[in-house]
Amino acid sequence: MEDCLFCKIVRGEIPARKVHEDDWLIAFHDINPARPLHLLVIPKKHITSLATATADDTEILGRLLAITGRLAAEHGSPDGFRLIINTGRIGHQEVPHLHAHIVGGPEPVGPMLKRA
Ligand code: 5GP
Ligand code: ZN
Repeated sequence: MEDCLFCKIVRGEIPARKVHEDDWLIAFHDINPARPLHLLVIPKKHITSLATATADDTEILGRLLAITGRLAAEHGSPDGFRLIINTGRIGHQEVPHLHAHIVGGPEPVGPMLKRA
């Protein structure tokens, strides 16, 4: 995906504070952290969102979930964290390349959602 922001980060065309890279995934600090720890974990493959992921993406999605605990623990949130995957317009997804937010730090992140 030529113009996708996160594909550009995968290709190294835009700098990012990377904390992990393997054959399937990269993880890096969010540019505008909402909590003391705020990482993004993304597949290297362009998958637009969970709304468009398919059974072919099962392995990569499993790998993405499986690495979150270690990344959180190693980067300042050893007692838990919140994983957020905003999806589509209703989920307020701003970057259309699937990404999981790991948010945490020394203090609890607070209630899950504000009631509408
Ligand atoms: P979304 O609302 O799509 O779930 O979250 C997109 C996230 O990407 C936001 O938290 C935003 O701060 C982050 N972000 C947007 N552009 C960049 C960038 O160029 N570099 C990094 N590291 N994060 C970005
Ligand atoms: Zn992309």
